[in-house]
Amino acid sequence: MKFDVLTLFPDMFECLNQSIIGRAKEKELIDINLINIRDFSNNKHKKVDDTPYGGGSGMVMMPDVVYRAYESVKTKDAKVIYMTPQGKKLDQKKVEDLAKQNHLIILCGHYEGIDQRVLDKIVDEEVSIGDYVLTGGEIPAMVLIAVSYTHLRAHETLMNLV
Ligand code: SAM
Repeated sequence: MKFDVLTLFPDMFECLNQSIIGRAKEKELIDINLINIRDFSNNKHKKVDDTPYGGGSGMVMMPDVVYRAYESVKTKDAKVIYMTPQGKKLDQKKVEDLAKQNHLIILCGHYEGIDQRVLDKIVDEEVSIGDYVLTGGEIPAMVLIAVSYTHLRAHETLMNLV
């Protein structure tokens, strides 16, 4: 299973180099590719946030920057998941459903989220890890990767027993 993670903080994913997932990466049983959204900013100060289009409080991630990051990894079979507290709850059923995909592109938000125009254009599904609000989508993305991998391994073990 391949994960492309679009994030402003790729270093946060260092913990996925440890333990079982770390070994799975080394053995190429799982492919986790981190894309720094900031690299796609055309602004000389690498700015990635702006006031929301149409008004509202706070700042949101700029649509063109997120879109270019997405374009750098998109494939016709990839499913794009936006981690958001407004999304569908990541329960076991949702994990089983997502683990059927070969390629997930996971979008991590920050600030007040991401400009709605790019979400409307590229996102296939919104997923939440629980009814609380974190400061960013990185920890939710790591939870999604970890539970998907655990599910796939458990499924494989079961198939080898029957
Ligand atoms: N008011 C914003 C909203 O409701 O979307 C809050 C944005 S939150 C401060 C910043 C980012 O953290 C979100 O864009 C999302 O990617 C991520 N996030 C926060 N809580 C989450 C949760 N429970 N599940 C999944 N992602 C979450």
